[in-house]
Amino acid sequence: MLKFCVLGSGIAYTLSPKIHGMVFDMLGVSATYGVEDIPPEALGSNIPRLKETYDGLNVTKPHKAAILPFLAENRAPFAAVNTVVKRKGEWVGDNTDLYGFMSDLRALVGDPAGMRTLVLGAGGAAEAVVCGLASAGADVTVVNRTASKAAALASRYNSASAARADGLRPELIVNCTSVGNDGRTNPLPLGVDTGALRFAYDLVYAPPRTAFLRACEEAGAKTSNGLGMLVRQAIRADEIFLGRELEKEALAAEVKAVWKEGE
Ligand code: NAP
Repeated sequence: MLKFCVLGSGIAYTLSPKIHGMVFDMLGVSATYGVEDIPPEALGSNIPRLKETYDGLNVTKPHKAAILPFLAENRAPFAAVNTVVKRKGEWVGDNTDLYGFMSDLRALVGDPAGMRTLVLGAGGAAEAVVCGLASAGADVTVVNRTASKAAALASRYNSASAARADGLRPELIVNCTSVGNDGRTNPLPLGVDTGALRFAYDLVYAPPRTAFLRACEEAGAKTSNGLGMLVRQAIRADEIFLGRELEKEALAAEVKAVWKEGE
């Protein structure tokens, strides 16, 4: 029996056990999936136990960067991992948010190359989003509450940042801030011109239709919440855990269909 878990702090809300449990059932894989809710100050002392106990871990806030010193190798293109697998007793890290976001975004927009894109936020999730969009040839501008973080993130990917959104006329807006879970607050900055807006993607997935997505739909955009990204990054992590290629598209469709039935 394989053993996996999600490692984070304050993660009572996590959907990871449900999603990975569904995928393992669909694949007929015999595995358990637990939750390790560990505060930042206790991470180091728990590492030997975690390494001993689990074949793989999904890592979430606030440990995505803090776990790096405990890895033998980081295969992510930046300094944040959300997936750790044990290989010959050593931990190897990766970041599947990049695949999860880009594959789900492509389902919404097709090819983002050349698309004028406004990314809201400059935290851990925005790193994967900007990395993916810039690599795909999108024309990215980052705006964040803390402008210096937007500038630093944009400079890592040859992209632009702006202290304010006035005058920006994006075709695609991606919300990577943590604003919107309450169903009311909207991260859309003042002054942004939505006249050319075609698509909006919200990494927030609860509630399914945030105030940000509603505002973008009113402006004529096609929209998606972050549930597809969540499911796809999980399936890519399972691929890494199991060390074999999975039918990711088919599995993602199946998980989302079962999810909808249960809503
Ligand atoms: P993070 O590293 O803590 O970054 C949070 C970002 O939100 C920062 O840019 C922060 O701005 C901004 N922010 C927070 N409160 C704000 C406010 N009141 N007004 C304006 N901006 C505010 O978090 P993260 O890991 O990047 O996650 C961001 C969101 O993405 C979360 O909702 C998370 O659940 C979601 N997410 C979804 C998926 C998925 O699969 N769908 C995957 C990963 C993350 P400052 O820099 O100014 O603090």
